[in-house]
Amino acid sequence: MIPEIASNLRVELGEGPSWDAEKKVLYWVDITGGAVYVHTPNDPNDKLVQRVKDVGCAVPRKGGGLAVASQHGLYGLDLETKALTPLTEQVETDRAENRFNDGKCDPAGRFWAGTMDGRPTRSPIGAFYVLEKGRKLKKVLSDITVSNGMGWSPDNKTMYYIDSPTRKVSAFDYALSTGEIKNRRTVVDFAQTQQQGNPDGMAVDAEGMIWVAHWGGGRVTRWNPSTGKLLDTIIVPADQSSSCCFGGDNLDELYITSARKGIDPKILAAKPLTGALFVVKAGVRGLPTNAFDG
Ligand code: ZN
Repeated sequence: MIPEIASNLRVELGEGPSWDAEKKVLYWVDITGGAVYVHTPNDPNDKLVQRVKDVGCAVPRKGGGLAVASQHGLYGLDLETKALTPLTEQVETDRAENRFNDGKCDPAGRFWAGTMDGRPTRSPIGAFYVLEKGRKLKKVLSDITVSNGMGWSPDNKTMYYIDSPTRKVSAFDYALSTGEIKNRRTVVDFAQTQQQGNPDGMAVDAEGMIWVAHWGGGRVTRWNPSTGKLLDTIIVPADQSSSCCFGGDNLDELYITSARKGIDPKILAAKPLTGALFVVKAGVRGLPTNAFDG
């Protein structure tokens, strides 16, 4: 499996991809570049949706438009007017360098997103939140350093989560009806299995296997979360592979984001694909992207 270049863009910090099955497009973001992009399959000329400062992720919203995480809050993004409307109170405003990072919706339409310490020193001063229709933003985990990952098993009984510097993929028992998570445990351990880089964004396939992007490892790996066994490795021609998402007509194409940020200009010159959006035939169907119901 060799990833192909999907887009002509080379971005600072590509992240937060989501597939809109109705429109058959992929939304993805450049966090530090402050932009939401839309990709149409087989067209490398991705379009700018809107400039949004420090936008961590973009997810489709039931009823139209997108929901995005930006700096200290979650917002609705109207695709016609391009207006940003707050969905929540601002959080962590006493920590100016904290910002929202990756986010995703669960099968019930709740929007889960976490924050990170934006300083290079990276301390566990972020948190993980969930927003449910008609409710206030709820903090579900504290002491998070770089909030990432997220995915749900096909039977909706397990939720996956990644705090990247822990080098672990966690699983929780998950209750679809209430959104409650409990019984955190490790299902993949990058240190123990001697993996390169840190786990970043992830996706779940229809067989219940998980796909994890390696930040600093230039690859996406497929794992059995029940056994912790590595099943497959896709080498990505960009060291900072950051996230992945299933898309395409049959949900069997895996889109992979990457980042140029922090890489020496000499290395960038030698690796012109750094910061690209990639796509690869996964050989298995993925689970659909869930939209925000709120
Ligand atoms: Zn990420």
